[in-house]
Amino acid sequence: MTVRTRIAPSPTGDPHVGTAYIALFNYCFTRQHGGAFVLRIEDTDQVRSSRHSEEMILEALRWTGLSWDEGPDVGGPHGPYRQSERSELYKKEVQTLLDAGHAFHCFCDKARLDALRAQQDADKAPRGYDGHCTHHSAEQVAAKLAAGEDYVIRMKVPREGDCVFTDRLRGEVRFPWAEVDMQVLMKSDGLPTYHLANVVDDHHMAITHVIRGEEWISSAPKHILLYEYFGWQAPELIHLPLLRNPDKSKLSKRKNPTSIMYYERIGVLPQVLLNYLGMMGWSMPDGREKFSLEEMVAHFDIDRVSLGGPVFDVTKLEWLNQQYIQQMEDEALSQAFAQWAIHNDYMMPIMQMLKPRAKKLSEFAPLAHHFFVDVPQLAPESFAYKKALEPDRLLEVLQFGLWRLEALRQWDAEGIERELKDTAARMEMKLGDFLKPFFVALSGSTVSTPLFESLAHIGPDLSRARLRHALSTLGGVSGKKSKKLKKAYDAMMRADVAQ
Ligand code: GLU
Repeated sequence: MTVRTRIAPSPTGDPHVGTAYIALFNYCFTRQHGGAFVLRIEDTDQVRSSRHSEEMILEALRWTGLSWDEGPDVGGPHGPYRQSERSELYKKEVQTLLDAGHAFHCFCDKARLDALRAQQDADKAPRGYDGHCTHHSAEQVAAKLAAGEDYVIRMKVPREGDCVFTDRLRGEVRFPWAEVDMQVLMKSDGLPTYHLANVVDDHHMAITHVIRGEEWISSAPKHILLYEYFGWQAPELIHLPLLRNPDKSKLSKRKNPTSIMYYERIGVLPQVLLNYLGMMGWSMPDGREKFSLEEMVAHFDIDRVSLGGPVFDVTKLEWLNQQYIQQMEDEALSQAFAQWAIHNDYMMPIMQMLKPRAKKLSEFAPLAHHFFVDVPQLAPESFAYKKALEPDRLLEVLQFGLWRLEALRQWDAEGIERELKDTAARMEMKLGDFLKPFFVALSGSTVSTPLFESLAHIGPDLSRARLRHALSTLGGVSGKKSKKLKKAYDAMMRADVAQ
């Protein structure tokens, strides 16, 4: 058997370190077995998916040093590798399920489903579809279809007994069928849901091992049942433990930056990020902490992955990065530094911003230092400029701005400008007064390169990290204060403003 694995990111946001972690373990497992590693884009959620996000994910993964044998960028015998280009296949396969009686048309409208859910909540019963439309006769279904009624296609799920399957790391896993919902497989727009597309693709792409994050384990019963319905051999399932914050909560961008690009931007070397991710739930047999990708492949053993939640600790990552820097040859280090930021891709937007502001090249570095640091040096006095805001207002401005920017989906100068200007208007502040603290958070000074373009250039996670750093320099927003601010913020966001 040729081992075939895949990573299947959904392009709905910034490239997440969790994606690199799962990709790394798939990569090592596959290389070790001389197999093929596939990258598939799961963009069935048309509203949240974007090509921009897809490109960033591929770029970020390439930056880490990982590579794949098949994918939307490199092609391969099982393409297309983007689910949005495989709709016909899903339609055909869902029809097989309908013909065999394993799936059914569901005509329930939103009002009925809402009422059902409300009733289940009131009864403290588990939520889920009640099988209403499984009782229609073939004639009734045909009549409804002929009348043009809206429908989705759901899978049938037994109501009794348990689903039992084996996870390579966990052994036997058991879920009562009664807790598994009659999942929608195809939406009313004819597009598949994750579950259908994922199973159909894993089969048609001949995937032998599904190595993914443990958040998907509760989807496994639906997938196992689909394999059974189709009469296909299910791949071996291996659910890796989730990465955690040092406080053991699930790694999330509210607490810890999660974007791969953030770690790149603060100057973590790509090989160090991979090395560090390699220590998440796994260790070298001889216990050494510094190892290359090749060494990891050579010694990898998936059965030695431990399930205790691995902690992604930025301090430890920085420590490891320091070990690498200290041991690198000067020339290699100089090259790494140039590759990090002293190249056209990174420098050109900065040149544009510096041109109107510098008389001599020697002014470039001081004017642009904030493009080459993690967070700038700040003290409470940094915010004591002329006509400074009073302390509570200052916290409010930075916190409200941060919340707006946390919700911004497409990170570009126009979007940042729109969010911040709108916040200033809602707070009834002059734009200049409102923006000054953001300049300080960005660069440590009220005079710097243009704010919106600069934040766009350093990226969402680093921008937010700088705002958080500014807030904590100013004493931070404690739990109680934060609740009060959130209330004021919500009220502000609800109010109508003249644009
Ligand atoms: N599209 C899913 C994700 O975003 C893939 C889950 C899986 O690997 O099955 O992670």
